[in-house]
Amino acid sequence: MPKHEQRPAASPAPDREESHRVVIIGAGVGGSVTAFRLARAGIDNVVLERGRRWPITPEGGTFPRIPSLDRRLLWLQGRAPRPGPRWLAHLIEAAGADALFRSTGLLDVLVTKRFSVVCGAGVGGGTLVYGGILPQPRADVFRRVFPAEIDYDELDRTYYPRARRRLMGTAFPDDLLAHPRYRSNRLWRDALEHSGLATEQVVSTYDFDVVRAELDGTATPSVTAGQYFFTGCDSGAKLSVDRTYLARAEQTGRTSVRPLHNVLDIARRRDGRYVVTAERLDTAGTPQERVALTCDRLVVAAGGVHTPRLLVTARDTGALPDLDAAVGRQWGTNGDQLPIIRTDDEPTGAPQAGPPNLLARNGDGDMLVTHGGLPLPFETKLMLCAGVGVSDRFGHWSYSTAESRARLTWDPDNDTTARRAVTDLLRPIAAHLPSGAKTVNPTAAYPLILHPLGGAAIGKATDAYGRLHGYRGLYCLDSALMPGSTAAANPVLTIAAIVERCLDHLIDEFAD
Ligand SMILES: Cc1cc2nc3c(=O)[nH]c(=O)nc-3n(C[C@H](O)[C@H](O)[C@H](O)COP(=O)(O)OP(=O)(O)OC[C@H]3O[C@@H](n4cnc5c(N)ncnc54)[C@H](O)[C@@H]3O)c2cc1C
Repeated sequence: MPKHEQRPAASPAPDREESHRVVIIGAGVGGSVTAFRLARAGIDNVVLERGRRWPITPEGGTFPRIPSLDRRLLWLQGRAPRPGPRWLAHLIEAAGADALFRSTGLLDVLVTKRFSVVCGAGVGGGTLVYGGILPQPRADVFRRVFPAEIDYDELDRTYYPRARRRLMGTAFPDDLLAHPRYRSNRLWRDALEHSGLATEQVVSTYDFDVVRAELDGTATPSVTAGQYFFTGCDSGAKLSVDRTYLARAEQTGRTSVRPLHNVLDIARRRDGRYVVTAERLDTAGTPQERVALTCDRLVVAAGGVHTPRLLVTARDTGALPDLDAAVGRQWGTNGDQLPIIRTDDEPTGAPQAGPPNLLARNGDGDMLVTHGGLPLPFETKLMLCAGVGVSDRFGHWSYSTAESRARLTWDPDNDTTARRAVTDLLRPIAAHLPSGAKTVNPTAAYPLILHPLGGAAIGKATDAYGRLHGYRGLYCLDSALMPGSTAAANPVLTIAAIVERCLDHLIDEFAD
């Protein structure tokens, strides 16, 4: 049978069908920017999101708190993740904690023997659990990583400022540092001042008035108790995209968000319309019904794991056979590192407050490091840092017919340079902390990847505006569009800026 006539594996008939102009898969960064831009242009759109809503309430308690075990923490795995490191499986079994993996929780973890990849699940996507920091990459590093048709100067002039404004980025206000909860941020600031490194005030998506309210006892302690990274802020201090871009889209009445709708597959009909099959879940993750949504324009924005997974599966099972061979390739980690500074005798405070206040870059601009508070209620004499760099090589997604699923191949050696660069960058900082500070990097032995990027790289799998080659009306507008890296900067600002840029160009064809 010729390639384009192959049929996807037969799936059960849907319980219900719907027809729409535009369907967007994923209510994270890319999906929310897209929904907002379309809604503002008067174009109706439906956003399918597998996870739940996480509404902030005055009573608090919206999010699971780290490190307590809570069923709301992890996205459905059906069972404890395997294969994974053996110790993890043993620990989970010993704790009788398998049930933790059967809920529509906040963190989706892809566990393999050699690394894990973490993404957010829920309306707001990765921004529900992200650190909220929005650095802009340096021009020279950006030009090294991105194709020439993506003009840095244009992004710098128009799209970075616009994305920063719409994401509600704010520079860290220095008055907070006087509070005892910010002891580790003060240590960080003092060490950076003496290190001679180039530093910048961090811009992040927090409402700092709410942070001040946390400190004066009128809001639930969240970001000031280290509860902001890997989880959300009960106080509402963190402005995830469901509260910025997506809220504005929904206010227009043109965007309809469907939480707990897990997309199973995508395909194209003979008449050129797309069919998205989704199962509606209850919060325990039990399927309630199967819905088929047909549409003229389909935007895949399921993030750096699930967009490549959906696209590679669609191409290699024959549902979308004309997708380019570049789909699945150039998948990278943004050179992610999570090193820790041990300050030995110097207390770092407990709990430590976030978010990060200052960032430092190395001279080449290809490693950026920040420090933000740890969510532990006791003194640790530790400072958690986060480094982002540029990978040496990339991984890829491919479809395994034997296992009937897409698989990720990535080698930790791909990030050797980033691992060295983060240690080199932290050395002069640790040297200016009170005596005896040492850096350890647990993610060198077992990478924990927070920034999955690529798999539908701009200018390769798509044109310069996110149109997937091979199909009209099919787009990738999220982290999968990044070329495996956002040039030594945390990715959200660049994802939002590039999706804004794509949509300036594409908006008319959504309206056609
Ligand atoms: C712990 C942590 C901290 C981070 N800190 C920062 C930071 O400080 N700054 C920064 O810039 N970046 C940070 N990131 C990375 C950032 O969150 C991601 O790069 C960003 O969210 C990716 O945007 P996206 O639109 O591609 O995908 P996402 O925001 O992940 O959105 C994708 C959405 O699609 C949904 N989805 C997936 N599959 C399906 C399906 N089959 N059906 C329906 N819906 C589906 C997901 O549930 C999700 O809501 C952090 C990430 C993590 C995990």
